Amino acid sequence: MATLGNPKNTIEVIQKYGFQFQKKFGQNFLIDPHILEEIIYEAGVTKDDFVLEIGPGIGTMTQYLCESAREVVAVEIDSNLIPILQDTLSAYDNVEVMNEDILKVDIAKLARERNGGKPIKVVANLPYYITTPIIMGLFESHVPIDSITIMVQKEVADRMQEGPGSKEYGALSLAVQYYAKPEIVVTVPPSCFMPQPKVGSAVIRLTRHREAPVTVKNEKLMFQIIRASFNQRRKTLANGLSNAGIQGLTKEEIQKCIEELGEPLTIRGEALSLEKFARLSDIVYDHVTKNV
Ligand code: SAM
Repeated sequence: MATLGNPKNTIEVIQKYGFQFQKKFGQNFLIDPHILEEIIYEAGVTKDDFVLEIGPGIGTMTQYLCESAREVVAVEIDSNLIPILQDTLSAYDNVEVMNEDILKVDIAKLARERNGGKPIKVVANLPYYITTPIIMGLFESHVPIDSITIMVQKEVADRMQEGPGSKEYGALSLAVQYYAKPEIVVTVPPSCFMPQPKVGSAVIRLTRHREAPVTVKNEKLMFQIIRASFNQRRKTLANGLSNAGIQGLTKEEIQKCIEELGEPLTIRGEALSLEKFARLSDIVYDHVTKNV
């Protein structure tokens, strides 16, 4: 039975092992059983599922996952947590703990070997310092993914859902929305963690699109353009893209592409939708391939 959601049991485990929290690993452990149950429910984990958990900590959410999933692989960077996990997960035979940095794990290989290449579910209370590289890594490496249900900083969850015109709209919003449908499913106050973080948190579910919402000739180029547009938020799109040296195009050539898109030359990147970025990317692509 999952017992660690109870704060008393968490404190007992931490004291038993003299565990010291490491700030550099973003260690804030969940101590609220209702939130844990909600995460598992919203992730839609069933006995058919292979689940990757990133950062199991002392194994609190891992216990819940073991009870709902067919198989769980939990990747934890902090070697001090490994003996604790061996203890707290000893009742389960459907879990493997890997002592690794998630950014160095070949997740596509893991999905191939453990789930026959079928889409996996990712569930995690993420270390906030690497939220963006983890999410982008999962999407860009084309790991077969069904959904990613993760606890992140509330502000970052908001950013993933935003559209043009909002202050929070940026490269992360566009990347997430290109690959998945984002939905904030639970908001979580600092009091649900030990130690308490300084910021509010939210659980966001990213359900992978079966088909991308826009088609684009060169995905990599589109993301280059998106990143360059938001790197210098206060500049016009034309200046942002020419400063970034996109495809070696001159400012005049970039202005031509923006005109072809049907937008004024004063426009900023933050006003463009995903569809417009995809179109602009195709216009730039055609321009460059015609010129070579
Ligand atoms: N899942 C636990 C919970 O909900 O109580 C712990 C969550 S805590 C916010 C984040 C966890 O991720 C910590 O256990 C931390 O050591 C681990 N972690 C941090 N960086 C990591 C990395 N690069 N790879 C794998 N795990 C990491």
